[in-house]
Amino acid sequence: MSYVDEALEKVKAKNASEPEFLQAAEEVLESLRPVIEANEEKYRKEALLERLTEPDRQFKFRVPWVDDNGQVQVNTGYRIQFNNAIGPYKGGLRLHPSVNTGIIKFLGFEQIFKNSLTGLPIGGGKGGADFDPKGKSDREVMAFCQSFMTELCKYIGADVDVPAGDIGTGAREIGYMFGQYKKIKSCYEGVLTGKGLSYGGSLARTEATGYGLLYITEELMKCHGESMEGKTVVISGAGNVAIYATQKAQQMGAKVVTCSDSTGWIYDPNGIDVALLKEVKEVKRARLTEYAAARPGAEYHEGRGVWSVKCDIALPCATQNELHLEDAKLLVANGCKAVCEGANMPTTIDATKYLQENGVWFIGGKAANAGGVATSALEMSQNSERLSWTFEEVDSKLKQIMVNIYHNIDDAAKRYGQEGNYVMGANIAGFEKVAEAMIAQGVV
Ligand code: NDP
Repeated sequence: MSYVDEALEKVKAKNASEPEFLQAAEEVLESLRPVIEANEEKYRKEALLERLTEPDRQFKFRVPWVDDNGQVQVNTGYRIQFNNAIGPYKGGLRLHPSVNTGIIKFLGFEQIFKNSLTGLPIGGGKGGADFDPKGKSDREVMAFCQSFMTELCKYIGADVDVPAGDIGTGAREIGYMFGQYKKIKSCYEGVLTGKGLSYGGSLARTEATGYGLLYITEELMKCHGESMEGKTVVISGAGNVAIYATQKAQQMGAKVVTCSDSTGWIYDPNGIDVALLKEVKEVKRARLTEYAAARPGAEYHEGRGVWSVKCDIALPCATQNELHLEDAKLLVANGCKAVCEGANMPTTIDATKYLQENGVWFIGGKAANAGGVATSALEMSQNSERLSWTFEEVDSKLKQIMVNIYHNIDDAAKRYGQEGNYVMGANIAGFEKVAEAMIAQGVV
């Protein structure tokens, strides 16, 4: 039996109750097959795959807090420290009722490879709680965050483990958690990222994921003899990633003609008006019908539909599993050349395969949306230096990181005879650095 199959069997036997983690481990290990086969004996002797799929440690803890009616509530908190071979653990804190051990483990595992791809010294971790900030008062959110940090602070630190935001954890939650950490530890250090600008946050973090997506897309186009100038782009979503992806695409001379939210989508043949979209979504927090009402020539449609619009480039930036096989068929039929994922896992597996088999250049989220975590790592650097860089400094470093990621994943795919398979290239490039560091550091 090959070493990959052997390791997968062990992972399945050990983690049968964690389907999300199993799916992620299977996907990554399968795509690493060519690298593992080329080093089969060495990696087997080192038990490298068994060590890679077993977290360094996991914490699960009670989070009691008092709601506005004086009632005590109890949530479950999690932090997984998966792998710190190349740097302190780094990964977001997800606050959502669906959070459980398997989901945190799957996200922490994926984070190892994404963080490695950035080329920055950050290991893989993830955390969160089954707490839903939606519908809670500010005081309730603060009570939860303080209780959560009272336990979490025992396990994290600027050189140990640096959590960040994720679903449900925005600037407000990070602020409350940072305040509590500082209070308990009597220590002002960059222990969290995604902080406000007045207390150690980084300029350009808000724009980073959307801008980074466009920097890698531009490099992809350039390496295929094309440019962004004059291209028609369809984008899904109308949140943080989608808004700043639209802005940067337009700065590059492309025309973005769509956006969407969970109820409907906009077709704007004259190009999305970013200032209006920001006003509707960031200021008024309203539906996209308001965009259509204020913008002559724009059409609003109920439901899904952005992928039916003819385009050169498609950038899914909303949510998981939002681009299905039938959407991929429409994109191919309409002559789409490139799909790059701004969201995490927006393209289903069969849609990804169809796009790749039909010659569409496809870059998955692990590489294409790494600009967010890369800029979080730049926030850590600024905190360590006790300096703040200008917007332009952070943005130019982000651009260089995304260009490097493109070339690393492209080279890795080519080295294993899989030219153009950027999904495999991303897993391989992310893995190689971590594997080398693990072996160099001995059996720990
Ligand atoms: P936001 O919450 O700011 O925006 C998400 C957008 O997607 C909203 O406009 C939302 O609509 C829309 N949406 C949600 N569900 C659907 C759906 N089923 N169909 C169409 N639209 C939908 O999130 P972000 O922009 O921050 O994140 C988007 C994705 O990018 C996520 O997968 C996230 O994990 C990933 N990501 C984000 C990073 C970041 O730095 N922000 C970093 C790396 C990855 P509505 O307003 O109606 O809810």
